[in-house]
Amino acid sequence: FLDPTGRARTMTGACVDITHYVRTREALKLADRQKDEFLATLAHELRNPLAPLRTGLHLLQHIKGGLPSQADQVLGIMQRQFDHMVHLVDDLLDIARIRQGKILLRQDPLSLQSVLEQALEGVQALLDAQGHRVIWQGVDPALWVTGDSTRLVQVVGNLLNNAAKYTPRGGCVALRGGEAAQPGMLVIEVADTGIGIPPDMIEHVFDRFAQVQQHLGHAQGGLGIGLSVVKGLVEMHGGRVVAESAGPGAGSLFRIWLPRADAPEPVEAAPPASS
Ligand code: ADP
Repeated sequence: FLDPTGRARTMTGACVDITHYVRTREALKLADRQKDEFLATLAHELRNPLAPLRTGLHLLQHIKGGLPSQADQVLGIMQRQFDHMVHLVDDLLDIARIRQGKILLRQDPLSLQSVLEQALEGVQALLDAQGHRVIWQGVDPALWVTGDSTRLVQVVGNLLNNAAKYTPRGGCVALRGGEAAQPGMLVIEVADTGIGIPPDMIEHVFDRFAQVQQHLGHAQGGLGIGLSVVKGLVEMHGGRVVAESAGPGAGSLFRIWLPRADAPEPVEAAPPASS
């Protein structure tokens, strides 16, 4: 080769055979794809028996004259476990669909206020059952996003659900929304006074199957995929999500940024039909 003055030089070095490395990478990619396919099939198969189970539970709950109180209690437990199972299977299906690019999002104008209110409504029972104080002051009704209402409610609901789960009884969970410092963006925050996240895990909580090994002894164990579904859905909406925590015991904060949309044009009422 030529040095900077243009003189010819020889170069010594070792030639590394990277075939093995390339093959290993390809094998890993293939294994990853196979794992995704397996998860998708598993989720579908697990979902099938859930429909008749749901009908059965519904029928039992509406038996004429009611059930003896003990049976009623058992039924309550079955219903909660059933809901938990549906949640896990739906997360599994979602993560498989996100990774395979198979989720289609609606692009509707959505008021931020309504998304956050619906999400809160969905977890209110759990927050109450845990005795948590909820801080929620509503948001400016003039703030809009474009997206899929069901999916955005799911995203915020998931963060609230985690906040409730990973906060010892009688804690505090705050939901906030508003304009972000960055122009054209909205911000949503879910904060809790719970067990917090160790600094070395902050980066990884959004990874598939990531779980921090510190538990509250709660019965609602998960698979560690809820947050990867959250991240996937937020990114599909053109947004970003981060986690913050000062460490174990210091609570956690999850922050989402989404592109702000213009308020939709008001629909004009049709003039009354003339007779
Ligand atoms: P799961 O809750 O099913 O385990 P997630 O993907 O929702 O899975 O969360 C991944 C991990 O991140 C959890 O196992 C938990 O260790 C940690 N985590 C999530 N949310 C919180 C929170 N609000 N406070 C403390 N840790 C959390």
